[in-house]
Amino acid sequence: ARQFTRPLNDLANQWNTLLSAVAGAERVFEVIDEEVETKDELEAAPVSRVKGAVSFSHVGFSYEGNGDTLSSITFEAKPGEMIALVGPTGAGKTTLIQLLSRFYDATSGTITLDGRDIRSMKRESLRSHMAFVLQDSFLFQGTIRENIRFGRLDATDEEVEEAAKLANAHGFISRLPGGYDKVLDVGGSGISQGQKQLLAIARAILSNPALLVLDEATSSIDTVTELKIQEGLQRLMQGRTSFVIAHRLNTIRQADKILVLKEGRLIEQGSHEELLAQGGFYSSLYYGRLEEQQQEV
Ligand code: ADP
Repeated sequence: ARQFTRPLNDLANQWNTLLSAVAGAERVFEVIDEEVETKDELEAAPVSRVKGAVSFSHVGFSYEGNGDTLSSITFEAKPGEMIALVGPTGAGKTTLIQLLSRFYDATSGTITLDGRDIRSMKRESLRSHMAFVLQDSFLFQGTIRENIRFGRLDATDEEVEEAAKLANAHGFISRLPGGYDKVLDVGGSGISQGQKQLLAIARAILSNPALLVLDEATSSIDTVTELKIQEGLQRLMQGRTSFVIAHRLNTIRQADKILVLKEGRLIEQGSHEELLAQGGFYSSLYYGRLEEQQQEV
């Protein structure tokens, strides 16, 4: 997960810089694309309505000059399903998400969204159908209202507050001096880690994406806020295809499909019950983890 937040944080920093100078998220993406990413193919076209069916077919990837980071990844996510990515650090979970969001393009194989090869989609258009809730979601210098509205720039104040209510963020925002008009510093110093996540959830709800990427927090957040986050996430994930880099057993158990990655290969896939019944790597991981947790208690 570290590897994932790093490039996205870089992106966030560029965003923060650019936001002050440039109006409009699309323009921001253009500038970033020019700097750090390969060009869209000439025939790349915008995508309008999206149901959220994702398919990976024999997808392989290697970072420049390295061996295979992902090999022959094949799976399907139906619209609205929750997919949990699990596996040891370095297994390729982050890279898989980066391919889905076209931070990189697959070296071999095909990724489709609603049956269409994502390489034929414009990056900003593809990403307008995606939202990211990360361990360290980026906040820029501006009011809370502006930070939430970044999910959809033409949202009204009422829509911003409605999203904040669904995300369980409205309560803490209302108690802040200034409320929605409180100005946050870059990175959101002055509010807690958990509160930042609630804002990220509100922003994602407002953007109403078909696809979601969640990187579950590993750092400890107080129990009350954690419950609020879980509830907000449930509402956010409802009806959207979500990819969760999951660290908590409870989250993983809820997934419609668990993808177990190891050394760049998809070694097992299925529901929690299916994988336990197989008695393979996941099941040993699961029982190992359970023991660890019991020892902690
Ligand atoms: P995970 O998210 O499961 O921890 P990653 O997808 O971050 O795994 O990493 C998979 C492998 O790719 C690791 O061996 C990692 O060191 C390597 N890797 C990640 N990012 C880069 C990069 N930008 N350049 C080269 N290798 C990378």
